Amino acid sequence: MNTPHASTSLQTRCCIVGGGPAGMMLGFLLARQGVEVLVLEKHADFLRDFRGDTIHPSTLEVMYELGLLDEFLSRPHQQTQTVSLVVGGTTLKLADFSHLPTHCKFITFMPQWDFLDFLADHARAYPHFHLRMQAEVIALIEEKGRVVGVRASTPEGPLDVRSDLVVGADGRHSIVRERAGLQVMDIGAPMDVLWMRVSKLPGDPSQLLGRIEAWQMLVMIDRGQYWQCAYLIPKGSLETLKREGLAAFRSKLAGLAPFLGERVGELQSWDDIKLLTVVVDRLKQWFKPGLLCIGDAAHAMSPAGGVGINLAIQDAVATANILGASLKVGPVEIEELALVQKRREWPTRMTQGLQVLLQNRLIDPVLTSRGPVSAPWIIRWLAQWPLFRRIPARLIGVGFRPEHVR
Ligand SMILES: Cc1cc2nc3c(=O)[nH]c(=O)nc-3n(C[C@H](O)[C@H](O)[C@H](O)COP(=O)(O)OP(=O)(O)OC[C@H]3O[C@@H](n4cnc5c(N)ncnc54)[C@H](O)[C@@H]3O)c2cc1C
Repeated sequence: MNTPHASTSLQTRCCIVGGGPAGMMLGFLLARQGVEVLVLEKHADFLRDFRGDTIHPSTLEVMYELGLLDEFLSRPHQQTQTVSLVVGGTTLKLADFSHLPTHCKFITFMPQWDFLDFLADHARAYPHFHLRMQAEVIALIEEKGRVVGVRASTPEGPLDVRSDLVVGADGRHSIVRERAGLQVMDIGAPMDVLWMRVSKLPGDPSQLLGRIEAWQMLVMIDRGQYWQCAYLIPKGSLETLKREGLAAFRSKLAGLAPFLGERVGELQSWDDIKLLTVVVDRLKQWFKPGLLCIGDAAHAMSPAGGVGINLAIQDAVATANILGASLKVGPVEIEELALVQKRREWPTRMTQGLQVLLQNRLIDPVLTSRGPVSAPWIIRWLAQWPLFRRIPARLIGVGFRPEHVR
């Protein structure tokens, strides 16, 4: 690639593109091992409305292993020990985390900007950690078939970063994987999500709630002062909804969650409602010489089960465990990069497989059904037998092949 002269140039051992859960956790863990690391994040802060909010027991276990759990839990957050689904007016308990073999037997809800700020604050304690905000990576620098760095655009002008390893942790629309020419397998999703907030009042239910009626599906996340609502729509159907009008949309919401009552009026225009497009895909190969992708950049996750953040964290832990020692002294061989994919591909496939099952068996039928909806037999079965609620709790809370900080 031809790279015109850049105004600034930096050298580091590992350059991580993207300061999301995967990138920030990897930056923190590598710096903790003494590896010189630079995280480039395109935004000026972590304060964006959508980032997903769930911190699962597997991630809390990582916090425990890092000795940060108590401090982490002292930050404002909400907790839930169960996940319930309201189908056609009947509440069904689906998952019970109270028996997990982890220190925390609950899911926490914390705005992701607080979670990322927490990681950044602790990472900065290590002299090898560097974070550069407002640095948007626009190209890879390659020499003799090997990625040797990235070019970023910053308010001060172009920035070239040369490094022994570039890690693409830049999410589901990853520029790194695109520029690297890594082959993507599109798995597909039948839905998109409308993301909005409605205030919360004392006396409202106090747990994570999924609500299902014919044609409609709403997930409500308790954020203390307000409900973060995710309303699922068939992919590409927002324009139809808009044609029906905002008033019609508000009454759909009120019908799904009657306790919201007049509060749906807080949605005053379509600007209060954000469209989040859902992508599910996976890279065939997560690496090439000098470059590795992790998190959503390697495997974009569906929101089903709310596990993407936690999988991204697990990728980061595995990457630091596998590559940390080698990276401390120099470039890593392609065989070592392959080990990361080997370790994390199976949990990814299994998790995405379950998400696709949920999409096909529950979400798609609900969004396309005209008549009254009844819960699939598996959900009724789980709700009936408390012992079996431990299975979804394990899959959601811990997942496949949990990683441990070395
Ligand atoms: C609608 C929806 C709801 C979801 N809800 C949940 C949930 O509740 N719980 C859950 O666990 N998962 C949820 N997920 C999945 C979750 O959002 C992802 O799996 C998770 O965020 C992946 O983390 P990541 O660090 O790999 O990527 P991201 O979180 O996407 O972070 C990537 C980072 O890279 C930065 N970046 C991007 N491009 C560049 C660039 N060129 N240069 C520099 N920086 C760049 C971005 O600004 C961002 O900060 C949801 C997904 C969707 C679509």
